[in-house]
Order: sequence, then C-alpha cells, then structure tokens
Amino acid sequence: MAFDDERLAILQAAELETQAIRMGHHRTPEGEHSEPIFTTSSYVFDSAEAAAARFNGDQPGNVYSRYTNPTVRIFEERMAALEGADDAVATSSGMAAIMSTCMALLKQGDHVVCSSSVFGTTTVVFNKYLAKFGVDVTFVEPTDYEKWQSAVGENTRLLFLETPSNPLSEIVDIRRVADIAHAKDAYLVVDNCFCTPALQQPLSLGADVVVHSATKFLDGQGRCLGGVVVGSQDICNEVLGFIRSAGPTMSPFNAWVFIKGLETLKLRMDAHSRQALALAQWLQNQPGIEKVFYSGLPEHPQHALAARQQSGFGGVLALQVKGDKAAAWRFINATRLLSITANLGDVKTTIVHPATTTHGRLSDDQKARCGITDNLIRIAVGLENIEDIKQDLERGLAAV
Ligand SMILES: *Cc1c(COP(=O)(O)O)cnc(C)c1O
Repeated sequence: MAFDDERLAILQAAELETQAIRMGHHRTPEGEHSEPIFTTSSYVFDSAEAAAARFNGDQPGNVYSRYTNPTVRIFEERMAALEGADDAVATSSGMAAIMSTCMALLKQGDHVVCSSSVFGTTTVVFNKYLAKFGVDVTFVEPTDYEKWQSAVGENTRLLFLETPSNPLSEIVDIRRVADIAHAKDAYLVVDNCFCTPALQQPLSLGADVVVHSATKFLDGQGRCLGGVVVGSQDICNEVLGFIRSAGPTMSPFNAWVFIKGLETLKLRMDAHSRQALALAQWLQNQPGIEKVFYSGLPEHPQHALAARQQSGFGGVLALQVKGDKAAAWRFINATRLLSITANLGDVKTTIVHPATTTHGRLSDDQKARCGITDNLIRIAVGLENIEDIKQDLERGLAAV
C-alpha cells in the first residue's frame, strides 16, 4: 500500500481526538507539517485541453475556490470523520449551512416540522424566507413526541431540531424523532452546535444531516464565522451543488482557523463540560438564585437521556435570579470579568439576557411558551479558572 493510502486507512480507524488533529491533511510536495492556507480564488491548468477536462468533470481537481479549495477541503474531510459521515460541505456561516441544506432538500409545496426551541434566526429562515417559496413549517415543542408525530403529514420532507436547546438545555431524543421522520421518508436535520461531535454524534442516532455553526465551539475562540453540513454523499452533493451556484462558500483563512480549533476540540469540550457542571452545582446553592437549567444536574427532567445520548453535558447553562428583569440586568451589569455578549462556545465566559437579546424578537406569548422569562440569564462557561468565574458571579449575586 502506498504511504498516503496506508496513513489514511490508519486515520480512518483512529479515535476522535486523533482524527480531529490529523484527518484531511494531504501533505504537498513541500512537506509542510502544519496545514497550509491556499489563498487563491482560481487554479491554473497545464493546457486548454486540461482546462476543458477539469471543467467538464473528466479530470478531478480544483477549478475555482467557490467550488473547491484545498484548505476548506481539509476542514470538510475532518468534520466528516468526526461526525462519522460520508462527506461534509463547508459554508460561510452557520445560517448558510442551514439555508443551503433547505435549498438542497426542499421544494415548493414541501412541509417542515421544526422544534420551537431552535436558534432564533433559524425560525426566521423558515417563517419568512422559505415561506415565500411555498414551504410550510409547523413548530412543535421539542420534547413532545406526540406533537412531532401528529405534525408530520404527506408533504413533510424535513424535521429539524437542536439538542441541547438554547438557552434552557432541553434534551431531545434524536433516535425517537429520527424514527418519526423515517416512517414518512422525511429527513431529520440536527443542529449539533452545542455539543459538537466531541460530545454527540447525531448521525449514529439516526439523523440524516448534521449542521453546525462553526463560529461557536468548533472555532472555540470567537474569531471567525463559518458553518458546515455533514451527511451522506448524495445529500452533500446536493448541498455542494447549491453552494457552488449560490456562493455561500467558506473562506480558506476561516477554514484554517477552524482546522486549528478542531485540534483541541475534545479537550475543550470536556473542560467546558466540567466547568459548567461545577458552576451549575455551585449556583444552585447560592441565595438569590431561583433555578438553574443544566442537563448535567440530576434533577434536570431529561438528565438520563442526556447522559445516554451525549458523552458530556456541554458548556452552556441558564439561571433564573430571584426577581424581575431589573434584577437580572443588575446581576449582569455587576460582573467585571465575564463578557456581555450573545456569542458562545468561546474560551472566554459570556453572559447574556435572552429575553431582551437573543430571544428579543419573540412576542411575550412566544417567550412564555418557551420559558424565556425576564429573570433568565444564560452563561456560556469558558475556560478561565473556575474560582475567578465564581468570584465574578458573586458580584452579580450581590447586586440582585
Ligand atoms: C450561532 C448559531 C447558529 C448560526 O450560526 P452563524 O455562524 O452565526 O450563522 C445556528 N445554530 C445555532 C444553534 C447557533 O448557536
């Protein structure tokens, strides 16, 4: 076996940590050890004949970076390996991954069933944009399986969910919703942003497609926007066809940042989970706290499912302070170390008031239905020393 083929076979059989560090890098004749960034928009051919052969697909290889780019390809091959998929297609953002999946899999007259607890902008894509092109959507409570079942009809092509949900950490049984989807020949798409493949692999639980905002934990340090769609070869070919035509391509520089992020993914996700669990347990016992939402706590209603479906509970928790919106704002404003920002999945701990930011677009009624109360605060726990994070939260608690 040739050296490169032998190496690939070893990597394919390797564990997630190893794949996250090495998969997808096919060294160039320069012998570089770290993955190179190909900042080129197009590629040169040896002859007019070779150009024609590349363009008509007779000869494999790069044509133009909206189609393929070697650095982006490393990220795609690495993500496909981590999620246990045939292939992956990188996109310019997480929203581009969701939109491209919909454009590839849906047509006029199709129906979508979506968890009511998904990233706010995802609901805008379904409600405002796909609706314009005759795609109907029904939103269901994520853990009400009878609702999922009864919402699925003859025209349903796609079911969409996020687990754990943001910000209340509800856990959806992926296998159960996959079975509901497949009974009607529909696809299940899972947004795996909060767990990443280091903690949860939805395809192994029956999902057909995984989408990510690479902007969050895959990057891990809040630097770049990006996304990725992961799934079977057929689905990836459809998605790639849309991206080549419509253009929401990942930049090679961003791909390189994500490649570097993936190298520490498992270490970081384990550490985020450890820190969040310690903080959730500590917060529960603080005066001034009404309730803590984190699936790692034994009293969380889906704790057992989370323990089965995930290999860690993740880095995001939410809490209710005793009091109203003013008390929640005083808590946030009293912190000095934490960053007041809607981003998450960063080594820096972030804090945000969902009711007036990430979920501010919802009506009061919608907020009430999905549990976004005025006294709710979300914390995406970073990797600073846990005692320093606690001290900062004590400043918040004292202000409630
Ligand atoms: C941030 C986020 C998105 C959107 O990703 P962008 O990279 O910001 O476009 C989608 N889903 C979830 C769960 C997110 O947190």
